[in-house]
Amino acid sequence: MSLIFSRRREWKAHSEIMKNRIYWPETLSGPPLPIKPDPLADTYDIAVIGGGLTGLSAACHLALKGCSVVVLEASRVGQGASSRNAGMAMTGLTLFPQELIARYGHERALGLYCIGTAAVDFLEAWIHNEKIDCDFKRYGALCAAYTRRHVKDLVNARRLLLDTFGHETLLVEPKDLSAELGSPLYHGALVDPISAGLNPAKLVHGILKRISETGVCVSEERPVQRISQSNHYFKLETPRGTVRAESVIVATNGYTPAWLKFLRRRVIPVASFIVVTEPLPLELARELIPQGRMVYDTKHLLYYFRRVDGNRLLFGGRVSFGKTDDRIAAAKLHNDMQEVFPQLKPYRVEYYWSGKLGFTFDRMPHIGQQAGLYYALGYCGHGVALSVYFGYMLARMAVGEPVDLPFIDLPFPTRFYYRKTPWFLPLAGAFYKAIDRLGR
Ligand SMILES: Cc1cc2nc3c(=O)[nH]c(=O)nc-3n(C[C@H](O)[C@H](O)[C@H](O)COP(=O)(O)OP(=O)(O)OC[C@H]3O[C@@H](n4cnc5c(N)ncnc54)[C@H](O)[C@@H]3O)c2cc1C
Repeated sequence: MSLIFSRRREWKAHSEIMKNRIYWPETLSGPPLPIKPDPLADTYDIAVIGGGLTGLSAACHLALKGCSVVVLEASRVGQGASSRNAGMAMTGLTLFPQELIARYGHERALGLYCIGTAAVDFLEAWIHNEKIDCDFKRYGALCAAYTRRHVKDLVNARRLLLDTFGHETLLVEPKDLSAELGSPLYHGALVDPISAGLNPAKLVHGILKRISETGVCVSEERPVQRISQSNHYFKLETPRGTVRAESVIVATNGYTPAWLKFLRRRVIPVASFIVVTEPLPLELARELIPQGRMVYDTKHLLYYFRRVDGNRLLFGGRVSFGKTDDRIAAAKLHNDMQEVFPQLKPYRVEYYWSGKLGFTFDRMPHIGQQAGLYYALGYCGHGVALSVYFGYMLARMAVGEPVDLPFIDLPFPTRFYYRKTPWFLPLAGAFYKAIDRLGR
């Protein structure tokens, strides 16, 4: 009991220096985001709903194809998941190779998996061509085994990645782990050397800057509340007037509103939380993640972490599935971080925030067309590179260019018990937490 009180006291003192703010935008320098002001035109070729990476990428590519485009954003551009994420641009998909192959067979799994990897290559080439400076670097990613049984899964995954997908990864034995990870919690790891890390706010800012040069109209604080169709146009109703467009792209991911029933019944908003430490002594920061990898672990309720700007640690996880105050979640995450890295006990958390992921029942991202609306969403926490790539593909689909993507004909499942409120999430969270504990 006294331990709980002393923890609470410590946390109270500590929380006075913490900022319930996202770290990334504070790293931006230069003028504020160049948003073209209202008023809007009556009619556009294409309207994009949602100003995250999917929507901005689609808008940018459409403008480069000569279309007139408006982006309608309910709050501020990038303020969904796109400026809040951990900036890990990972190859592959959320599903482990074993699960992908078991579900789709070798050939289909290969096609799907390769898109995840192609998306990182696409992102790298695009930001290079468009001169978007977002600190992109191929640091590599490390998947850390939470149990001894998970080490066997990683050995299996490594073999499948090589044999089926031609993707080379490196197994890290427990005795060699300290060269990759300064944590006593894990039993081994698998390193993918080609995944990358970046600064998500710089990415959003860079795309927005590029967009402003191409003439796209971006309207913030303009939630779309209804869509109807008349003659050759879609009418998009917002609290500040109606916009007409020949085609519509929906890019709302974990923030998809209830009135978009088909998508909302298929995309489950799941909160994810992040804390960032104060600057650490450089040597300590290097000891935690010596190679600077993007790290995640094999738990169902996984932790993900990385170094940012050399000497801070960003640490994230899905610590709560119910309604939670960010401050309470940050306290929990701070404890979890100290369990992974006991060396961090004397150091404070300076920033904390949360955001919503778009999960799907099959844990796969989805892109397609429904009732005339183009959509891409449901990245399941793996969307930094995929959202930019799918945005490009949406742009091509919207202008009638042929798109050959194995995701397009994937069935998009829902469940009879999911209408608009994911009431089952706290139950699922408790279930997976128990499994993680029992597996240990
Ligand atoms: C905390 C956190 C950490 C993450 N870390 C990683 C990571 O390290 N690596 C990774 O690959 N992925 C990560 N992700 C996931 C990744 O950020 C997302 O997959 C990606 O940003 C999705 O981009 P998006 O544009 O599709 O959606 P968002 O960026 O969520 O944008 C959707 C936008 O739609 C707007 N919107 C919703 N309804 C309306 C409406 N009616 N009218 C107008 N606008 C509307 C919202 O306001 C929002 O801005 C993370 C996500 C979170 C929350």
